[in-house]
Amino acid sequence: MNFIHSIKFRFTIVYLLVLAVLLTALSAGVYFYLSRSLYQNLDHSLELRSTQLCSLPTILETIRQGEFQEELGEIVILCFYADNQSVQWSPPGISIPLSHEFISQAIAGTGLFTAIQTAEGEGLRLLAVPVNLGPPGPTPSLPPSLLIIARSTKQIDQALAGLVRTLLIAVPLALALAAGGGIFLARRALKPVDEIARTAQEIEESDLSRRINVNTKDELGRLAATLNEMIGRLEKAFQRQKQFTSDASHELRAPLAVIEAESTLALQKERPSSDYQRSLENISQETRRMSSLIDQLLTLARADAGKEQWNFAEIDLGKLISNLSTDAEILCQEKGLNFQLGQTHDLVVKGDEARLRELFMNVLDNAIRYTPALGTVSLSLRRDGQMAVVAITDTGVGIPAEDIPFIFERFYRVDKSRSRAEGGSGLGLAICRHIVEAHGGKIEVESQVGVGSTFSVWLPLQSP
Ligand code: ADP
Repeated sequence: MNFIHSIKFRFTIVYLLVLAVLLTALSAGVYFYLSRSLYQNLDHSLELRSTQLCSLPTILETIRQGEFQEELGEIVILCFYADNQSVQWSPPGISIPLSHEFISQAIAGTGLFTAIQTAEGEGLRLLAVPVNLGPPGPTPSLPPSLLIIARSTKQIDQALAGLVRTLLIAVPLALALAAGGGIFLARRALKPVDEIARTAQEIEESDLSRRINVNTKDELGRLAATLNEMIGRLEKAFQRQKQFTSDASHELRAPLAVIEAESTLALQKERPSSDYQRSLENISQETRRMSSLIDQLLTLARADAGKEQWNFAEIDLGKLISNLSTDAEILCQEKGLNFQLGQTHDLVVKGDEARLRELFMNVLDNAIRYTPALGTVSLSLRRDGQMAVVAITDTGVGIPAEDIPFIFERFYRVDKSRSRAEGGSGLGLAICRHIVEAHGGKIEVESQVGVGSTFSVWLPLQSP
């Protein structure tokens, strides 16, 4: 991958920019703080020196006569401002490039600081304070004068230049180290992303058993775990799909084989018409079975694709149950079973009437199918809190406890041969569960082998 377009690069650049801005601001802060405090110290020392010299008029006289000993790096002179125009310097021979404006301002005030450069290019910080050199009396004998104390700023300038040099080396060096460290850390932190991308590329539809091998506890670890979970779900879905397709083909193959055998047999030679009739009846029965199987497969395929159309409306469940009981009674009579309609209530639910009818008929159909002659099938409706409960009970063969968790799975049949012989496809209860769940309810079964089963359907009641 192009490094410039990588997150690593962008991370590092942003991080370096932020660091560069911070380091530059910090360096500038240090420089200005140091420069200010050094100059403030210098100014303070100039002030102290001027107070010291001014307090002793004899020293001023000594300066005037040019006999004052200058300290190292310090210039102390007097300046007379005779007639507002000409400036005289004392001791003579020294002159400092100060403007008339500055001199007159300093004389008029209490003291002024300024910075100048000597002809040799040396920087001087200078304090000018007005002094009175005349003897005490109404008329001063000398014109207004200034005591000027100047000190070289060479050391300060050198210290500041040294600081700038140090910063100019240290900041880029720190940035280079940070860049190296940043790239290293970004590479390390984002290494799992490469692992995730590689595994994702390697995963194929045919082999979803691969998992991303990132076990860190950070965000990328969590991302890998989430992706692994997703791949797991996809794997299960693909497996279900495969299983479903193979089960469906298998289920369709059985009636087709019967149809083929019957027709081949019938066509082999001339037969009495009763044989043809029997063959055609068999073919017709298998065709009906296939057709119903295909209907169920379509229902489930639509459910999986989320393309079902539901017509939800308020349904009087009591009325629906009594209507169903009429059909169930007829079916029970045909098989020599007793039918009992237990208690019913006027309960209203929100649902799709046709689909609810299909659901209850499926369960009733099973109850009738798996109950031997003389047994009983009963149907009842009661209220349980905010739910309506429809119970369908039979005194049939019952379901073994180990099969109960699976009977709502597609194509699951407790006894394959019996179910097929009875016309079952193993899809009925899967469709029932789907319908119940689409209504926000649940379906449960209690059963005992040889005693019977009770299927209970819970549906949320319509709030008034
Ligand atoms: P089938 O079309 O085979 O009946 P279902 O999905 O409706 O498929 O039911 C799944 C399996 O559950 C059946 O094969 C049967 O073994 C078992 N079963 C369902 N209802 C009953 C019942 N009332 N009594 C006993 N077994 C039942």
